[in-house]
Amino acid sequence: SPGRFAGAVVIITGAGGDFGRAGALRLKREGATVVLLDAAPQALEASAKALAEVPGPPAMAFLCDVTSDEGVETTVAKVELAHGRITHLWNNAGYQGAVKPIDEYPIADFQRVQDINVVGAFRVLHFVSRSMRKTGGGVVVNTASVAALRGTPAMPAYVASKAALLAMTMSAAKDLAPHGIRVNAISPALIGPGFMWDRQNELHAASGSPYFSRDPEEVGKNKIAGVPLKRVGTKDEVINCVLFLLSEESSYCTGTNLVVDGG
Ligand code: NAD
Repeated sequence: SPGRFAGAVVIITGAGGDFGRAGALRLKREGATVVLLDAAPQALEASAKALAEVPGPPAMAFLCDVTSDEGVETTVAKVELAHGRITHLWNNAGYQGAVKPIDEYPIADFQRVQDINVVGAFRVLHFVSRSMRKTGGGVVVNTASVAALRGTPAMPAYVASKAALLAMTMSAAKDLAPHGIRVNAISPALIGPGFMWDRQNELHAASGSPYFSRDPEEVGKNKIAGVPLKRVGTKDEVINCVLFLLSEESSYCTGTNLVVDGG
């Protein structure tokens, strides 16, 4: 609804990505001052351009790698200086890593996935929560994944990272509740159609895992057959849930995980 986020200052990490951009557009339309963070300059620029086309308060964009202490600390300080406070954080930057069974999985890539999805999310929450404490509280949503709950094959690094993020969400919710900061997670499942959905099925088909067909189309069909609602979810259906958790409609929710998976 228009005005639901009036006066809000929302930091979005991974804002150059699919979810981040779609969420930024919705938040701006609903009255938020949106602050886009991403490590990829072109993706960030494309989101900033898309955002300039929709009505709402002027947005900001910062090139910021969540694996850098200094980068995150100085960016958060800049946002605080520009707007006086940060009311919301959507901790959404993520890296999927390789799609290979555990015995073939590259060790350095496993580490990289944790550095971005776990330590990166922690780092952003660490600095943003310090800022939120000073200004009376805030709301945080971490983007996890149903992969964390299901042990999706051929994605050991990603699965481990999102499970860690879910556990950290519960712990952070407890640490930050006394400071008026709510922390929840969202766990999307099969989202499409589009590039990401197709690419995902190609990667699973090529993974060599016995749990996936070698034919990407077959992989997609088999996945959908296992979903009670018999379809993939849309980006918008994910964003609806993110905005619910960011909004006051979820004012009694903290430390929870909202699964968006069609059953
Ligand atoms: P995406 O690849 O389009 O977006 C991810 C963004 O994160 C990219 O713009 C990338 O540049 C950015 N990023 C990566 N490493 C970074 C770093 N070190 N510092 C800052 N930014 C960095 O993917 P998406 O689908 O929009 O994913 C968003 C989140 O949703 C991720 O956490 C992902 O794991 C999660 N997720 C996605 C799906 C799906 O089906 N798309 C399902 C479940 C969970």
